[in-house]
Amino acid sequence: MDTLRTLRPQAPPAPRACPRCGCRLARDNTDSHCSPCRFALTLEEHRELLLDDEATPEYKAAFESGGVVELARVADCSVADAISLAIRSGLVPRRWRSSEDKLRALVDLEGIRHVEVAVRLGVSRWTVATWRDELGLQAKRKRRPNRSAS
Ligand SMILES: [Zn+2]
Repeated sequence: MDTLRTLRPQAPPAPRACPRCGCRLARDNTDSHCSPCRFALTLEEHRELLLDDEATPEYKAAFESGGVVELARVADCSVADAISLAIRSGLVPRRWRSSEDKLRALVDLEGIRHVEVAVRLGVSRWTVATWRDELGLQAKRKRRPNRSAS
């Protein structure tokens, strides 16, 4: 029985916390981060690798004419994915990549005022205004006068 006992791995001395989210790590977790955070970090690294694709002229033209909505149509993807595409392919400032999740969240916040969106995303309203302007996403769609009746 003594042999078996010595083969058992030693229990860590104290519970460790994930440095990213602060949750307590499972005792059998040998990683430095919890698994959801490890997954998120791996995804971020992966995205980093994809960053240097140049936008095709077709994507560039679509983005310039109608922002991410038009880019989504041309690239045949969701508007949120078009935002990721715009970030990866350098259609928006590269520094925005660290805010990718927030930028993608803008899609679901369409029609909500800059100030409210800013509070929800934890950024300034000027940042929200800049993001929306660059991406071609508006706070509130202005109603176009209906000219079809003639
Ligand atoms: Zn974590």
